[in-house]
Amino acid sequence: MSSDPTVSIQYLKGVGPKRAELLQKIEIETIKDLLYYFPRDYEDRSKVLEMRHISPGQTVTIRGKVMKIEDYQTSRGFKILKVTFSDDTDVINGVWFNQSYLKSKFEKGEAYLLNGKVSEKNWRKYKSKDINNPVFEKLDDEEDSLNAGRVVPIYSLTEGVNQKRMRKVMANALANYAKKLPDLLPAFIKEKYSFPDLGTALEGIHFPENKEDYIAARRRLAFEEFFIFQLYALHKKASYAKNKGIKHQYPASKISAFLKELNFELTAAQKRVWQEIKADMEKEEQMRRLLQGDVGSGKTIIAALALIETMASGHQGIFMAPTEILAEQHYLNLKELFAAHGYKLALIVGSLKTKEREELESKIAAGEIDLIIGTHALFQSSISYSNPGLIVIDEQHRFGVEQRYQLKSKGENPDLLVMTATPIPRSMAMLIYGDLDLSVIDEMPPGRKPIGTFWRRSNRRNKIYKFVKDKIKEGRQAYLVCPLIEPSAEMPDLISTEELAEELANGQLREFKLSLLHSKLSADQKKEIMQNFRDNKLDILVSTTVIEVGVDVANATVMVIENAERFGLAQLHQLRGRVGRGQHQSYCILISDPPGEDATQRLEVMTSTSDGFKIAEEDLKIRGPGEFFGTRQHGMTDLKIADLIKDRQLLKLVRQESQNMIKTKNWENKYSKLFKKIQQMELKI
Ligand code: ADP
Ligand code: MG
Repeated sequence: MSSDPTVSIQYLKGVGPKRAELLQKIEIETIKDLLYYFPRDYEDRSKVLEMRHISPGQTVTIRGKVMKIEDYQTSRGFKILKVTFSDDTDVINGVWFNQSYLKSKFEKGEAYLLNGKVSEKNWRKYKSKDINNPVFEKLDDEEDSLNAGRVVPIYSLTEGVNQKRMRKVMANALANYAKKLPDLLPAFIKEKYSFPDLGTALEGIHFPENKEDYIAARRRLAFEEFFIFQLYALHKKASYAKNKGIKHQYPASKISAFLKELNFELTAAQKRVWQEIKADMEKEEQMRRLLQGDVGSGKTIIAALALIETMASGHQGIFMAPTEILAEQHYLNLKELFAAHGYKLALIVGSLKTKEREELESKIAAGEIDLIIGTHALFQSSISYSNPGLIVIDEQHRFGVEQRYQLKSKGENPDLLVMTATPIPRSMAMLIYGDLDLSVIDEMPPGRKPIGTFWRRSNRRNKIYKFVKDKIKEGRQAYLVCPLIEPSAEMPDLISTEELAEELANGQLREFKLSLLHSKLSADQKKEIMQNFRDNKLDILVSTTVIEVGVDVANATVMVIENAERFGLAQLHQLRGRVGRGQHQSYCILISDPPGEDATQRLEVMTSTSDGFKIAEEDLKIRGPGEFFGTRQHGMTDLKIADLIKDRQLLKLVRQESQNMIKTKNWENKYSKLFKKIQQMELKI
């Protein structure tokens, strides 16, 4: 047997090639992966009670041998499986409803462990103690010490590997390999924070002897996880700082003149972030900056200024948006904004015809285009840019890290400006976007009226649509958002755009111009519909969340969201951000019948605040960070044990330590194991 923990899991005793294949489905390839596969929960089986001491109402763990197995049907048609267990002090029944298939899992005379809530049942002649639907496990003597009489780990499983098997192979791995894993944490850190060594921590997380063990193990492993992540980001940032970038140059007076043409004045926050960006762009080093600002805070105009700076300095600007609708909108806006300045713009989206695209591509390559706007088609294609100076990425939360880098590699270190409306607290931003500098627009343009937000039951829909009607009569426009495009047999409770449009076009909103908008329409259709909506030739868009991000039509003041319980907080906040963009009072109406607890919380948050930071915090509390940040990105969903909310204090310590580390002379050699790990991460991303 090899003693190297990085060998394939199949060489571990109790695994073998077949199970190894099964384990691969949960991303366990090596013995080390297994050791880092942490329990999703624990069950306290340290207190196995004697049956005679148990009374109804208690939730207990008991151990007993099977005496009798019965299954029968009740007069009302329920199938009951009743298994009687005894531990020599008393008997208890395990009762399962409509799960007769479990019958084969029990064998007379064999010992089992049961966990559940005890109830008392009165039969005609006697009383019995029952546990309905208990969690159970068969006991073998040799495995007893892993599965009973202690706190036992519960793992997320994959088909063909049960809890007991998982515990057994884990115990093997711990006994034979845990101490052989290289401990990445420097000794001085372990000493400073009294962390257990890695082997002990892994023991403590999988098979804790007691609560203290577990807490110490978890703290150390969470620290380690944050630390490696943060160090990676800082290292990345330090190496980018060596990149020679483009030294932009454009007189501030010309920018001022351009700003004078606008019909508004920049807010103080916009002025400040623009100064930060301009200063960066005019430095020799490559700019890599994140611009964070809540929905509607005015990020686009800042992007426009940065693009002018690059174009006026003789470079191409690249502006990437997450959807075609948004790319199109930016294209139209910027075209108008730059109309008097003679810049040439091109829009590159996936739906371009080959010929159009080739023409545009050759112009771009020849440097005849100053500003290229588009979706991810901007970097999926064969475009070669001519002397690009700045890449702006809008609504970064929609893109993954990899995409960020792929685009970058197209040019010679052009500056990078990434924009996001995701309002993450600074300490978290440091971890997630630690390789970027941060600018924040923390102020809304003046004169915005708060959006009136209401939660209404679906039996009020008539009234709601009467309200929509009134607003349209006043000259405004409305978005009606549904969770589905077309009716679905699987989800009969959810309303679709097709149903709603049909209902309203033949009913309450008969007199108005209404259109569907969703992802199944062709790009040309979508483009035309959006154009008509912008020109106020359409009163109502019945849409899916395709309008979620960035769409900016100031005259639209009503947002109705059907089945609002189906949407996450970040999404609801984004959707609401589509209104409240002009001088008219705006409204957001969330239609939902009393949903589950989480959804109720979300809807209450929405009606009580419009502050993106607060909403983000609430969302993090309700759903956890993985969900909030959306898709699998930034590797944040890879956080196996650390928790951005619960471990905030720990994260602060990690920040200090990693900043110190990166400043330590020659740290790459002094802590070579750590450094090697970080380089491997680089390869992965
Ligand atoms: P977001 O940050 O969500 O991308 P936008 O850039 O789309 O926001 O801006 C929202 C709206 O506010 C736009 O119509 C824009 O023209 C307008 N706007 C931006 N800055 C200001 C300002 N300083 N004063 C008034 N309106 C502004
Ligand atoms: Mg925007």
